[in-house]
Amino acid sequence: MKIAVLPGDGIGPEIVAQALHVLQRLELPFEIERAPVGGAGYEAAGDPLPAATLALAKAADAILFGAVGDPRYDALARSKRPEQAILGLRKALALFANLRPAQVHAELTQASALRPEIVGGLDILIVRELTGDIYFGEPKGIRRTDTGEREGFDTMRYRESEVRRIARVAFEAARKRKRKLCSVDKANVLETSQLWREVVAAEAKAYPDIALQHMYVDNCAMQLVREPKQFDVIVTGNLFGDILSDEASMLTGSIGMLPSASLDASGRGLYEPIHGSAPDIAGRGLANPLATILSAAMMLRHSLGHPEAAERIERAVGRALRDGYRTADIYTAGTRKVGTQEMGEAVAARL
Ligand code: NAD
Repeated sequence: MKIAVLPGDGIGPEIVAQALHVLQRLELPFEIERAPVGGAGYEAAGDPLPAATLALAKAADAILFGAVGDPRYDALARSKRPEQAILGLRKALALFANLRPAQVHAELTQASALRPEIVGGLDILIVRELTGDIYFGEPKGIRRTDTGEREGFDTMRYRESEVRRIARVAFEAARKRKRKLCSVDKANVLETSQLWREVVAAEAKAYPDIALQHMYVDNCAMQLVREPKQFDVIVTGNLFGDILSDEASMLTGSIGMLPSASLDASGRGLYEPIHGSAPDIAGRGLANPLATILSAAMMLRHSLGHPEAAERIERAVGRALRDGYRTADIYTAGTRKVGTQEMGEAVAARL
C-alpha cells in the first residue's frame, strides 16, 4: 500500500506528522512517500502542484493531504497560488465524490453554537459531487451587454452519468449507515435540478432498502439548523454541497475535528481535514490534529481496505477526548489543554 503524503503549508506539516505517528503505530505494511504541495510546491519547483508531486499522487493508492495556503503567496498569479494544488489534484485524479462526515462527540457537545439537545450525538454524512456543476460548467465569463453594462454569467450543468455515479456513492454509503438518504436540489426552479431529481429517483430502484427523500436546498439549509439529527446521508451537487457541508461542519462546533475524503470511481482517494492551513497559529504547536488523524482513518476504510484499523483510530480519538485531552480550539474549563504533538501521542497511546 502506497500512501502519498502531501503536508502542504501552515499547520499542514504539524498535523500530518501526528496522523503519520498514529498510522505508524498500526504496524500495517505501508509505503509512505512525501512531496511538497501548495506554497511548499511553489518554493520547491515554482508550481503549487509540481509534476513530481502529481506523478506521486497518481501512482499512490491514497493521498494524505494537510492543507495549503499562505498569505505570502496571495500576490501571485492565480495559477501559482497554493490553493490551485487542491483543485488540480481533484481534476487530474477525477475525484468526483466528496464525503464529509459531521459528528458531534459526546464530550464536545458544548462546543457547538446550537443547544446540546439539538446536536448531541449528531452523526451525518454529506456526499457532495465535486467535479461538475456551475463551478466547471461552460460557458462562463464576464461580457458586455447591448447597453454596454458588464454582465457575469456561469452555467449550471450536470450530465445523467455524473448524477448517477454520485447517487450510487451516496446510496452505498447510506447502506452502511442508517439507510436514509436525502437528495438535495432546487428542482422547483432549476432544470439541472429536475434532471438530478429524476436520475436519483431512478437509481433508487436499485436500492429498495434505502429510504430516499428529496429536499429543496433552502429547506435543507434551514432543517440542518432546526433539527439536524433528522438526516443520515445527504447527497447534493457541487455548489449546494459546498455551502451545506460548511454549515453542517459548524454544527459540530470545531473545524479542527472534521475529516473528509474525495474519491474517484475506483475508490482511490485524497484524504484531508476540512480546515485550511491556519497561518494564524502555524508553527506554534497549537493546531488540533484530530481532523487529520480522522482523515487517515477514512483513508484506511475507503481506499486501503482496513476498516478495522479505521475503527481503532476512531475509538482512540474518542478515548483521548474522554480522558480530557483538548487542543486550544476545543478547550473548556476542567479539561486538559494540550498541544498538537501531545494530542497525537494521546491518540497513538490509546489505539
Ligand atoms: P482556516 O481553516 O485555515 O482557519 C480558520 C480558523 O480556524 C483560524 O482561526 C484557524 O486558526 C482555525 N483552525 C483551522 N484549523 C485548525 C486546527 N486544526 N486547529 C485549531 N484551529 C484551527 O481558514 P482560513 O483562515 O480562511 O484560510 C487560511 C488559508 O487556508 C488560506 O490560504 C486558505 O486559502 C487556505 N485553505 C486551504 C484549504 C485546503 O487546503 N483544502 C481549505 C480552506 C482554506
